[in-house]
Amino acid sequence: MINKKKIGILGGGQLARMSAFQAYKLGFDIAILEKEKKSPAGQLTHNEFVGWVNDDKLLKQFAEECDIITLENEFIDADRLKFIESLGKKVIPSSNTIRLIQDKFTQKKTLLKNNIPVPNFIEVKSINDYERISAKLGKRFIVKSRKMGYDGYGNADVKNVIEFKEAYKKLTNRHSNLYAEEFVKFSKELAVMVVRTKKEIKTYPVVETIQKNHICHTVIAPAQISKRKLKEAEEIGIKCVKAVKGFGLFGIEMFIDAKGKILVNEMAPRPHNSGHYTIEGCVTSQFENHVRAVLNLPLGSTDLVKQYAVMINLLGKRNGEGTVQNYKESLGEPNLHLHIYGKAKSRIGRKMGHITIVGDNLNVILRKAKQMEKKIII
Ligand code: ADP
Repeated sequence: MINKKKIGILGGGQLARMSAFQAYKLGFDIAILEKEKKSPAGQLTHNEFVGWVNDDKLLKQFAEECDIITLENEFIDADRLKFIESLGKKVIPSSNTIRLIQDKFTQKKTLLKNNIPVPNFIEVKSINDYERISAKLGKRFIVKSRKMGYDGYGNADVKNVIEFKEAYKKLTNRHSNLYAEEFVKFSKELAVMVVRTKKEIKTYPVVETIQKNHICHTVIAPAQISKRKLKEAEEIGIKCVKAVKGFGLFGIEMFIDAKGKILVNEMAPRPHNSGHYTIEGCVTSQFENHVRAVLNLPLGSTDLVKQYAVMINLLGKRNGEGTVQNYKESLGEPNLHLHIYGKAKSRIGRKMGHITIVGDNLNVILRKAKQMEKKIII
């Protein structure tokens, strides 16, 4: 018999906020640990812990307050998660799973070992490594920091030795180790959410993601590729989760090249931007199934409720208050679902919210979503 369980979330951003809404909906409670007060999720609860995971005392207090712990990003050192586990509290996904994912080089090696198709990759050992790397990957490749990369920060596209040296200096300034990856001439980028408990594993519809400046901009569900390729992408997603012995919710990003070959770009052990459309687009959202999976409860259906869904991120258009400036125009389309994350400040390019439209005519909903994204000022 489950009482009112309290789920602790490490991190208080929009992913924690949207998970919290679903936890409340199901009658559970949440606690949030975030560096600053009044974070998007912290402002929803009295159980707001301010500080960070390197503070043993605080982390212990937080763990004691919660029945189970999850996270909203993969940047928390796996050893800190291990510390929570040593206190007798479960972390979902576990510290062992996060350890395999949070270093992208280790992640790629793990996927490759499990026969999952990934772009060619190689370790970067020094600033004089261009020749050795280009011998394996070709003249053009992507240098990536092994840890802490997000929204393209931590990546550099390199076409010659000079650019390589510049990238090496820039990325080693901010991050520790680097690796390099073949430049994939993809025709589309795909993503699939996979959710797993001890008893079940389910996939969401495979989506197409369109990035602008390395940030996810538009998501189209389902991806407009053949049924056979959709199935293949789902199967690869499941293999990825099993490869890291993952339980909970995972987002797997992939490339599909001109010949239809699918390669895994990366996986995230948490709700994912490419799955925001599921809130209105699917019977059970990624956030609700995240909560269910963390508590090892039966999963809800991942089926689409209409034929298509389109999600567009609302990035800050100005520097100022983090609120919508023109609600009347922003809510002028009756089929639009508007989500605002409650961030105190907007900055140009910062993820401030998103919009979703579901429907049975893809061209119509895509056009409407694009028009509305232009109108909303935040
Ligand atoms: P982050 O973890 O910062 O989001 P990713 O490694 O997912 O970074 O890269 C962000 C974007 O950069 C991808 O969505 C894709 O558009 C592009 N990209 C990443 N790796 C490659 C690659 N090997 N070849 C071509 N483009 C890539």
